[in-house]
Amino acid sequence: MSPSPSSPRRRVLVVGIDGVRLDLLRAVPTPHLDAVADAGFLGRIEIDEATPTMSGPCWTTIATGVGVAKHGVYGNHFGGNRLDVFPDFATRLAQEDGRKTFVAGGWEPLFLARQGGPLFAAPGRLSYIAPRADTSEDWDACDDQVTDDAVRVLATDDPEVSFVYLGAVDETGHLLGCGSAYLRAIERADERLGRLLTAVRSRPVYARESWTVIAVTDHGHRDEGGHGGRTPQERSAWVACCGPDIPARPPSRPLRFEDVAVQVYASLGRAADSHRTPDGSALSTPASAPLTPAPAGSPVMSLTVQSPGLACSWSAPLRVAAPGTVGLDPSSVTSGAPPTCSPGARSTLRLLPDGSLVRELENSASAPLTYRRR
Ligand SMILES: [Zn+2]
Repeated sequence: MSPSPSSPRRRVLVVGIDGVRLDLLRAVPTPHLDAVADAGFLGRIEIDEATPTMSGPCWTTIATGVGVAKHGVYGNHFGGNRLDVFPDFATRLAQEDGRKTFVAGGWEPLFLARQGGPLFAAPGRLSYIAPRADTSEDWDACDDQVTDDAVRVLATDDPEVSFVYLGAVDETGHLLGCGSAYLRAIERADERLGRLLTAVRSRPVYARESWTVIAVTDHGHRDEGGHGGRTPQERSAWVACCGPDIPARPPSRPLRFEDVAVQVYASLGRAADSHRTPDGSALSTPASAPLTPAPAGSPVMSLTVQSPGLACSWSAPLRVAAPGTVGLDPSSVTSGAPPTCSPGARSTLRLLPDGSLVRELENSASAPLTYRRR
């Protein structure tokens, strides 16, 4: 499954912009975010009922690919977390694969051992830049320095996966509400996204690389500023994504924060982990999961995934799951190699009227997988 020497080198940039309301994105020019969305898509994320609309739990879900029930971060104090079991993508990729990863930002518990953190435990490279104080101006200056640093690293070093955090929009919302200063802060965040994208394109080897770019926010704000509740303004988040495997439209299923980390791994042609613990699905998945029919009466089903970054086949014994329901016992890999292609757990199957098949993994909170006949 390792790419041939001539295949482009996969790289991923995730830009996390804290607290950007989806409805107010349309009120300001954001040409750089629009460019990402035009090359791929921008979709709404509904923050699920279990997740407080706060930065701590939302960023932790984004970075780990698992929900609050697994990672255990329910507020902006990260104490009691289970990040040792469910690490962030920058740490997992550095520790398990020896890949170069990079994270940068100015909010302490994401990067430092403060307030029960850090979320990003052991990335390959880390830039923490403290805001001088919790004011809108100081966070604006902090984001500028974070961007400067990330531009330098992206242009001159070779991180395979990067996470850059921008906090000024959220801080401005808290201090001044969602008025003109907040809108201006969104524009400034977009300018910084533009500088990061320019740095990526300036790389001397850019022509031989294949970049996936994900921009994501963690929650919205009430009009007067503040969040943590369940109003539509607070619980609406969004993700924009483009890259070689990303379709022009969002998948026709609800998007989740958990999808971001799963997509980071998928963009590298790697499974999230060998135990299939993630609660999300790749943002690129639905276009490519054909079902290969077996001869009638066969006791075995074959499943195949073909995409530019992934080619795996599995077979699994059919079984009667409950009266009237068909299931699959754990699958084995018949083509492709772990960890990219890993065996699946027991599952139950449901046939939809359009002929596609929905497969739900047992004992898993993952979104069901959908297969279409080729
Ligand atoms: Zn936040």
